[in-house]
Amino acid sequence: MTSQRSESMPSGVRVGIDVGGTKIAGVALASESTDVLAEYEVPARQGSEALVEDVLSVVRALSDDPVSIGIGTPGRVNSSTGEVENIANLAVDYVDLGRLVAAATCVEVHVENDVNAAALGVAAQAEAASTVVCLSIGTGIAAGVVRNGVLDRGFSGVVGEVGHVPIEPHRWPCPCGQVGCLETAGSGGAAVRLWPHDTPPMPAIIRRAHDANDPLHMQAVDVRDTVIRAIVDIIDMLAVTVDPEKIILAGGMAKTGQPLLDEICAELSRRAEGSKFITSLHLDDRLALAPSGVPVGAIGAALCGKN
Ligand SMILES: [Zn+2]
Repeated sequence: MTSQRSESMPSGVRVGIDVGGTKIAGVALASESTDVLAEYEVPARQGSEALVEDVLSVVRALSDDPVSIGIGTPGRVNSSTGEVENIANLAVDYVDLGRLVAAATCVEVHVENDVNAAALGVAAQAEAASTVVCLSIGTGIAAGVVRNGVLDRGFSGVVGEVGHVPIEPHRWPCPCGQVGCLETAGSGGAAVRLWPHDTPPMPAIIRRAHDANDPLHMQAVDVRDTVIRAIVDIIDMLAVTVDPEKIILAGGMAKTGQPLLDEICAELSRRAEGSKFITSLHLDDRLALAPSGVPVGAIGAALCGKN
């Protein structure tokens, strides 16, 4: 994505900020559409003071006078108060992000977790679909659920934390304190841990698993199957609990692209063999990759601001 600072500094726009581990990226949306009028980003820095400064600098570069500001961020987010705890990649233990940005801009600010923000952005791109799940496969794996354009947060805000269902047969320990969480196998972080031979791991794992002459072929088959089965367990769970019209794969591992989608669809069809029930779900038809090059996280954050 190029850093595009708007020369005209549009007013009356909705600003959305996507807090990432390496950059703070923002968009300005026309107030009644999802058209991106301007984009701007700065490299992410460590610490809560730097985070607030960086968010403010991106907001100010995008608009002098936004009608709303939405922020999507990793960490444990209280979307009612705008407080955020434990953004591990940015060394932030706690930040009163919503209040600090609102006080500096005199604009209403809504803070949402990054998976939910991406889900709103993805759902806006797939606007024909009634219920959309965005399955974000990055360091961890989690889903955001959007029903008719509205985020489903559930009672305590853990809707979509499917990575912490502890049914993975290897019984590896998870940072959440359980053992056997699906995230310990079906995530980008797991692929990095299980496959130290290549960076990024997933494209290489898939390529080597299809090459019988590769010296690491058998190990690649084993790791590929472990990762893909855990992801498909999660897709199955989302299908029967949420029953979405679309399941959109996003996050770092989704950048593997079509080869990843092909592996997931192959596992889905293996499971459908002999099961009229699974066949009838047509899950492969509902799966898609998030559009590449579209800042869905920042767009979704701007839409959170509207909500
Ligand atoms: Zn866990």
